[in-house]
Amino acid sequence: MKILIVEDEPKTASYLRKGLDENGFVADLAENGEDGAHLARTGGYDLIILDVMLPVRDGWSVIRELRRRDVSTPVLFLTARDAVHDRVQGLELGADDYLVKPYAFTELLARIRSILRRGATRQVSVVTVADLAIDLVRHRATRAGKLLELTPKEFLLLSLLMRRTGDVLSRTIIAEQVWDINFDSDSNVVDVHLRRLRLKVDDPHEKKLIHTVRGVGYVLEARL
Ligand code: CA
Repeated sequence: MKILIVEDEPKTASYLRKGLDENGFVADLAENGEDGAHLARTGGYDLIILDVMLPVRDGWSVIRELRRRDVSTPVLFLTARDAVHDRVQGLELGADDYLVKPYAFTELLARIRSILRRGATRQVSVVTVADLAIDLVRHRATRAGKLLELTPKEFLLLSLLMRRTGDVLSRTIIAEQVWDINFDSDSNVVDVHLRRLRLKVDDPHEKKLIHTVRGVGYVLEARL
């Protein structure tokens, strides 16, 4: 599997490359957005790890160009803390997933494997699980054809659960991805929001899609 890293911070880039190499990936490096976009178009990569803040041109313009040219290589972008809006924008532009800096290398590996498992071709902007559908570009979610009225946070939460269907997500991961908070074990913010989301997504329906995994976290999947 061939991965392109687009990252301008030399230490981070070489650390990433070494880690991927040790885990059996072939990793190339681009140090700015222009080189990154060029390699991404021509290099035949299975996945692109894209920093957003880059010299010459930023990560957004790289994703935009790739998708406009119908290059469907999955993109995992790296975003800063306190940049919740960026996450929504990145997904709207056609990225597949994101990680918030600083991240643990093991978490990056888990994301890479999860994206690659979904298949080489990028999923379209609409993700469906049973009769639940979310359109990341148009910013709407429906269940059984009926529009769900979600707050922006609930939308982000649902999009996280749906993009990682079948993966059990810990409260720590959810808190970090959706709220940017340093998780504190006394905080029940994740549980409170999950409960509200369930009220809208699951309560009116017999078949439940959001499940609690005791002691671990939450998973969204269609169970028999
Ligand atoms: Ca950077």
